[in-house]
Amino acid sequence: MNPAKRREIFSRLRAANPHPTTELEYSTPFELLVAVMLSAQSTDKGVNQVTRRLFPVANTPAAILALGQARLEDYLKTLGLYKSKAKHLIETCRLLIERHGGEVPAEREALEALPGVGRKTANVILNTAFGQPTIAVDTHIFRVANRTGLAPGKTVLEVEKKLLKTTPKEFLVDAHHWLILHGRYVCQARKPKCGECIIADLCEYQDKTWPAAATGSGTPPAPRRGKARSAPTGPRAEPNAVKRRAT
Ligand code: SF4
Repeated sequence: MNPAKRREIFSRLRAANPHPTTELEYSTPFELLVAVMLSAQSTDKGVNQVTRRLFPVANTPAAILALGQARLEDYLKTLGLYKSKAKHLIETCRLLIERHGGEVPAEREALEALPGVGRKTANVILNTAFGQPTIAVDTHIFRVANRTGLAPGKTVLEVEKKLLKTTPKEFLVDAHHWLILHGRYVCQARKPKCGECIIADLCEYQDKTWPAAATGSGTPPAPRRGKARSAPTGPRAEPNAVKRRAT
């Protein structure tokens, strides 16, 4: 993909959603760390339902340690893998207190040394809590990067490195959320909504889907650039996902 096209893709995603963020609800770096750790194989919605009950009771490492494994499991039990999530969380809280004065560190190495925190989680924390230009490649970003041609790659690490290298600097901090939201709501796994997609004319995916009524013959409809670039197109198309908890 040439640089001009790449820049135009991010320009349109930014125009549609100027301030993207995670759909996980949080108000401190520690709450975000907990939410991200709980989100493995769970939906953001399911995690938010849990943290809405948990955080008013315990939203610091000390408070979660005081809760103890059994009571923590009780809060988490609607989530998959809740027993191991509770175990990792308790151990992480212990290490945060021992090594970091109860604060979430803003360094990759320190984050990845915590139980249950891998490269992807560390990238989310560094990006979303600390504003660093990292890109946590999840299943949505992996798919969008490959389909569009933004950063084709066989592994998440390959895609991450390509995105970091080729994304224009001005878009780097928010690229992560634009691509996740685009994959979650528009460029969906089973049937991408190419007919609603604001970057369809730039995307290099060979098997785009077009509404039969709009084309009649399988040819793409005219791109929706003007309308989509001038205003957000609503929650289903490019949601502005800011949903931080009120403090
Ligand atoms: S045109 Fe289709 S395949 Fe390409 S990014 Fe948009 S939804 Fe995804």
